[in-house]
Amino acid sequence: MSTRGGGIDEETLGFVLDTLKTVTERRLGKATRLHLDEADEFPVDLVDELLGPELGLHLLFLPEEVGGLGGGAYDLLRVSEEMARVDLGVATAFLAIALGVDPIIVGGTDEQRTRWLGRIADEGLIVAYGVTEAAAGSNVAALLTIAEPLPGEDGSIRAYRISGTKQFITNGGVARLYTILARAPGGPSFFVIERDAPGLTVGAPERKHGIRASNTTQVILDGVEVPADQLLGEVEGQGLEQANRVFGFTRLMVAAFGLGAGEEALARAIRYGLERKQFGEPLYRKQGFTHKLIVPHAVRLEAARAYCELVAARLDGGEPGLQVEGSIAKYFATEAGNAAADAAIQAHGGYGYTHEYEVEKIRRDVRITTIYEGTSEIQQSIIGTHRWRQTVRTKGAFYREMAAEVRAGGGDEAAALAADALAETILTAHSKKLPREQWAMFELARLATEVETAAALARKAARSDGGDATLLAACARLHAGTAAHDVATTGERLLRASGLYSDEEIQAHRAATRFDDLLAANDGALELMNAVAESLAG
Ligand SMILES: Cc1cc2nc3c(=O)[nH]c(=O)nc-3n(C[C@H](O)[C@H](O)[C@H](O)COP(=O)(O)OP(=O)(O)OC[C@H]3O[C@@H](n4cnc5c(N)ncnc54)[C@H](O)[C@@H]3O)c2cc1C
Repeated sequence: MSTRGGGIDEETLGFVLDTLKTVTERRLGKATRLHLDEADEFPVDLVDELLGPELGLHLLFLPEEVGGLGGGAYDLLRVSEEMARVDLGVATAFLAIALGVDPIIVGGTDEQRTRWLGRIADEGLIVAYGVTEAAAGSNVAALLTIAEPLPGEDGSIRAYRISGTKQFITNGGVARLYTILARAPGGPSFFVIERDAPGLTVGAPERKHGIRASNTTQVILDGVEVPADQLLGEVEGQGLEQANRVFGFTRLMVAAFGLGAGEEALARAIRYGLERKQFGEPLYRKQGFTHKLIVPHAVRLEAARAYCELVAARLDGGEPGLQVEGSIAKYFATEAGNAAADAAIQAHGGYGYTHEYEVEKIRRDVRITTIYEGTSEIQQSIIGTHRWRQTVRTKGAFYREMAAEVRAGGGDEAAALAADALAETILTAHSKKLPREQWAMFELARLATEVETAAALARKAARSDGGDATLLAACARLHAGTAAHDVATTGERLLRASGLYSDEEIQAHRAATRFDDLLAANDGALELMNAVAESLAG
């Protein structure tokens, strides 16, 4: 069996998206969304319908061999984005099913995949993914849930007795099937456990800041006996590796949530700014409104979209892992979505602060995306560590090649300049072991994210000849200009803050990174902002 499909054709994806739109328009209108949020209610009927025969949304991420559609990363990206535009709570229920299924897809034996995935496909089962514990949050390896082997009459392992408490489990109270990470003698391992297994109980739903339409509970395992053939892969100790293998996909899905929620908030802010008149004209005529609350967020969301599409294309092309890229996509898109949603409240003034206009709900909902599936800080830690090593190992070639690719593809020179400068900055920082300071490493991770998203958007804009080509080119230029400025100023700040570099060394670094050229990458930015504002109003 293959692990995951390379994707469905455009027509089928279009059909899935259209059907999703029809069902959510019918079942998840504004009154329902507000009610679910206010009542803290999981819409069980709606989720059943999404997983039912008409839509069968879960079939998208199941392999064809078991009756799924074999959807790829791009398909998941698009569906997640559209669901997030409607309601991130419901979208989260869907994410948790995909997460729960993933250990079976990547870690299950052929027999286990046929058995469990086949049932999920046929019965539309709600699945939950149980990894987090009170003492094992970001540090999953600290898990305390124990899987104790129980010998059969012939001495082989007949079953495992599992005990422990899982914290913050999405769909915890409504799932029919759980994939639970527990510590077996051979190391952390995933087990498939059914809802009615004796000893499995669930806690009360958490009362949450946002995504209140999703169900989040503790899952308590008190001596739950699980047959040995429900250990995924039937070999102990593979759980963390199985979890790691799917981060490219799962973090891309959460990135799509940030993107979708941010886009919806931005669209509402634009509409409102065009309609609402103050001081004799629409707010949208005020540069202080558009260039603060609209344009910067539109630019970052375009960059997030370009980067997510790039990662999806690489995953669908069969590249394994892409863990760091999944981290960059999630970190950048979810932070951009949060910032856009926050600005949308401001753009609505006092009305933005009320439930009626929904932007405050989007803001509360999207807040979770920088926390679950690895916090922003954990993503920064992954990005910083890997890109530091990669840059040092290649003596800077990793980013210089990225710059060369941007130039070869006709992309914006500022993005190439920023990538070249980042290579120098990481090497200069490494020369005095500065990235060993976590603050410095996180700042370098942030710069890497700015530069890589700028490179992705520059290349996408250069390729584009459609109706949005002018808008994309302006966004690419603006984002690259900001990235170039950031590499120049943050890079110098890091060196100065450390106290490790002499004035001569700092001047040499300025020359090597072409400091003045990096700042000059913002020449003409005001005109570009005007153009983006104009284009978005259209
Ligand atoms: C609504 C919701 C749904 C969820 N759904 C699921 C689910 O379905 N399944 C599941 O298994 N889990 C789920 N989670 C758990 C979620 O993934 C964890 O909450 C998250 O990974 C963070 O763990 P923690 O809450 O223990 O925070 P902690 O790990 O305690 O982190 C607290 C803070 O410290 C920072 N921090 C941690 N380590 C470092 C470090 N090394 N360097 C710098 N800063 C650091 C973090 O970024 C964060 O800001 C869910 C959580 C919520 C709130």
